[in-house]
Amino acid sequence: MIDFKAIKGLVTAREAAEHYGLTVNSRGMAVCPFHDDHNPSMKLDERFHCFGCGEDGDVIDFTAKYFNLSLKEAAEKLLADFGNGVDLPYTPAPPKPPDPAKRCHDVLLALEVRLHHQKWGTAPQSMDDPITTEYAQNCQMYDFIAGLADLLSGGTAQQKEDEIAYLTEGGVLDRYEALLQKEVIEYADIF
Ligand SMILES: [Zn+2]
Repeated sequence: MIDFKAIKGLVTAREAAEHYGLTVNSRGMAVCPFHDDHNPSMKLDERFHCFGCGEDGDVIDFTAKYFNLSLKEAAEKLLADFGNGVDLPYTPAPPKPPDPAKRCHDVLLALEVRLHHQKWGTAPQSMDDPITTEYAQNCQMYDFIAGLADLLSGGTAQQKEDEIAYLTEGGVLDRYEALLQKEVIEYADIF
């Protein structure tokens, strides 16, 4: 990320304008390059301001407008033209805050897959087999977690927000994440 502030400390709007060919008179005024100007109506110092057309800004704004560049490109140009090889203007971009929605989604999905396998691993093998408590509980756990996962991907914005708050603020998600390390997820782990 370019450090715009450091660039503004490197060169004033007036210095840049003069370097790029504008004649600035003793009163700090120049003929404005941004409108059809005949008498100097642009004031240049740290920043610039045109009393004719109203253009106004700092050295980066000036350079961007003068050369028809984006602000980032203008900052890079100023660095190239005035930086003297100084290696200052790049600062690392701030780290992205962790996305709680993505973490909720990832954990729920992993848990859903785990419970799906666990559920089918205990399912009756034929019509004659009894439905065990274990299987019934696995079904309940699976349905519950799958429901949460579905709501997170298909619910309204408000529902998603509520669910993320429920999962993250109460430490529920941490608990769920820890369950992924267990061999068997038990009924009491979820309910
Ligand atoms: Zn002007």
